[in-house]
Amino acid sequence: MRTPVRIYLDYNATSPLHPEAAETMARLLRDEYGNASSVHADGQRARTIVDDARQQIGALIDADPSDIVFTSGGTEADNFALRGVAEQQDATGRRHLIASAIEHEAVLNTLKALGKRGWSTTLLPVDESGVASPDALQAALRPETALVSVMHANNEVGTLQPIAELASIARAYGAVFHSDAVQTVGKVPVSVRRLGVDLLSLSAHKFGGPKGVGALWIRRGLKLTPFMTGGRQERNRRAGTENVPAIAGLGEAARISREHLAAAGARTASLRDRFEQVVLSGVPGTTVNGDPDRRVPNTTNLSFDGIEAEALLIALDLEGIAVSTGSACSSGSLEPSHVLRAMGVSQARTRNSLRFSLGPATTAAEIDAVAALLPPLVAKLRRLTHRTAAVR
Ligand code: PLP
Repeated sequence: MRTPVRIYLDYNATSPLHPEAAETMARLLRDEYGNASSVHADGQRARTIVDDARQQIGALIDADPSDIVFTSGGTEADNFALRGVAEQQDATGRRHLIASAIEHEAVLNTLKALGKRGWSTTLLPVDESGVASPDALQAALRPETALVSVMHANNEVGTLQPIAELASIARAYGAVFHSDAVQTVGKVPVSVRRLGVDLLSLSAHKFGGPKGVGALWIRRGLKLTPFMTGGRQERNRRAGTENVPAIAGLGEAARISREHLAAAGARTASLRDRFEQVVLSGVPGTTVNGDPDRRVPNTTNLSFDGIEAEALLIALDLEGIAVSTGSACSSGSLEPSHVLRAMGVSQARTRNSLRFSLGPATTAAEIDAVAALLPPLVAKLRRLTHRTAAVR
């Protein structure tokens, strides 16, 4: 039986492994088993592979490679940033932490966990397009604020934050500024220098690398309490034998993304915009959530009046199209999106929003096929919803 052709529009959840990264990883899994901490030649070859990947990440985010610490992904990088600063600054009396209300669960639940252990926490409000304003941050900061965490772009709606401005305000108060850049690294140019942040998280599987590997960039001189304890790997910052093939896959994905960044971004944005235009004109009662101008090039979040997003997601899946109702972690639960709620989107609209996220392999033909399918599918679901409501 032939596998049906699928159209994948869920790149913000994860992306397919780039073939060159897959080849590199397969070769290393087979041939390079050295421990990067070993003194002998096998170990030194592994060390070189890890350091080469560090160079590639450094080039992608405009950072000195030696300030990059490999982690098991974006979640660990976020945990390391928040817990590392909180623990380190505990003794100084700075026990207040701020994060935007639309952060990923990796940040929000870490903040909550620290809140339970005695840190005071503030969630920064966002406006209707999902932007955390400098004024809101100014109002939330206190002399005892240890850390501010605001994501570079949101995973559900794609809105980009004014990070450079926010970071300079936080730093004027002596607070450390962290940005979760999991949804921007590899998609738009990211420069830790220009953003002016102290800490930046990234994750390989969002831009063609493997799952289970990521990194935290740490400004030179900033001390974090390591939360993985053990050996002296990663300059004593993150214990545990390095996953050399995964790190090399991350490095390859970084190299490829950097080479194609500008062209891929422009191409994806034009496909996304064309998709949006066709859907907005073909499906009455459709709204774009987020900031239409300041967002990552690959994401559109659309509300379709009068339907349940889960029902449309399943209908699309049956047609071979993969999309999402929001962050992968909260899909499967019927909780309305915390991101849309924080943006002040009505309860009804939070339940009928779908995220379409494109990637470098998305084609115009795929976009046109999905855009053509949506009007009849939405119309059918609206008829069904209407009938069910009438029967009730
Ligand atoms: N932060 C954001 C904004 C994300 O979108 C994700 C993944 O969905 C993460 C963090 C977690 O990254 P990882 O899956 O590598 O743990």
